Amino acid sequence: MVCMRIVIVAGGVGGARFLLGVRAAAPDADITAVVNTGDDVTLHGLRICPDLDSVMYTLGDGIDPVRGWGRRDESWVVKDELAAYGAEPTWFGLGDRDLATHLVRTRMLDAGYPLSEVTLALAQRWDPGVTLLPMSDQRVETHVVVSDPDTGRQRAVHFQEWWVRHRAALDAHAFVQVGVDDARPAPGVVEAFAAADAVLVAPSNPVVSVGTVLGVPGLREALLASPARVVGLSPVVDGAPLRGMADRCLSAIGVEVSAEGVGRHYGARSDGGLLDAWLVHETDTADVPGVDVRRVPLLMSDPPATQAMAQAALDAARG
Ligand code: GDP
Ligand code: CA
Repeated sequence: MVCMRIVIVAGGVGGARFLLGVRAAAPDADITAVVNTGDDVTLHGLRICPDLDSVMYTLGDGIDPVRGWGRRDESWVVKDELAAYGAEPTWFGLGDRDLATHLVRTRMLDAGYPLSEVTLALAQRWDPGVTLLPMSDQRVETHVVVSDPDTGRQRAVHFQEWWVRHRAALDAHAFVQVGVDDARPAPGVVEAFAAADAVLVAPSNPVVSVGTVLGVPGLREALLASPARVVGLSPVVDGAPLRGMADRCLSAIGVEVSAEGVGRHYGARSDGGLLDAWLVHETDTADVPGVDVRRVPLLMSDPPATQAMAQAALDAARG
């Protein structure tokens, strides 16, 4: 039997939950996740990859189900001790269990291993049942151009500072992928798209997750060259993102916060865009010229609902 090969473009929490659904819907498939690393940041000398870790912990059943990120049964001793030293930044949540991941990763990166190999090594412990690939082995960090509330001048801050420290409350003027010019798709990414039977774009943040992945030179081209149909799922339902602040990102780049707005932003593959099919929530409507728009339940409220949503995406990939 030839097993189905599925490639999924994913961010953190939304991507991770969707991947759970795909794994359940296609237990015999060969699944590859191409994960955003634009959120990665170095703090306290440690390399942190929030989206890769969200996916790894979720698929490995180590995620905190309430927060949706970080480790279950987490403690915060090191964070408190760092704060007692006045060690900045204090606004980023680094739990004790989570820190072990960052220590191992940083040590391997310092020893010269590329991020893709480090990710593979970390994932061995978690047995995610999915091949996890960073979008690139090169560092690409999303920065956000904001107006400084004190001076009124524009300046760029790291995405994490904008998102976590300021809760995306500062108006964003632009998103910049620092380092992207020197980036290439990580080993295995181009090959995965070329061999895929289905390419799914997770209901992840269209700007700072999916947009960042597709910004890696050569990656979008590899996706578009895939023989598989490309199916996207809307992270926007009834005019708002399900959780988080993705609306702040969409507004900043002038995209309407609606399933139709995001679908048109991605565009039809037949017309230079991304999509063959676009899944919107059953209560939404969307007209995206050249794209097979399907209305299905898109709420990942429990495992069966998430699995059904993944199944609908796989059905759309079959045409
Ligand atoms: P992040 O990197 O942790 O922000 O996660 P992603 O970029 O992968 O996903 C964030 C997006 O997931 C948000 O914009 C949400 O709208 C979307 N999302 C979260 N839960 C759901 C859900 O149940 N259904 C749909 N359709 N989208 C969801
Ligand atoms: Ca993210």
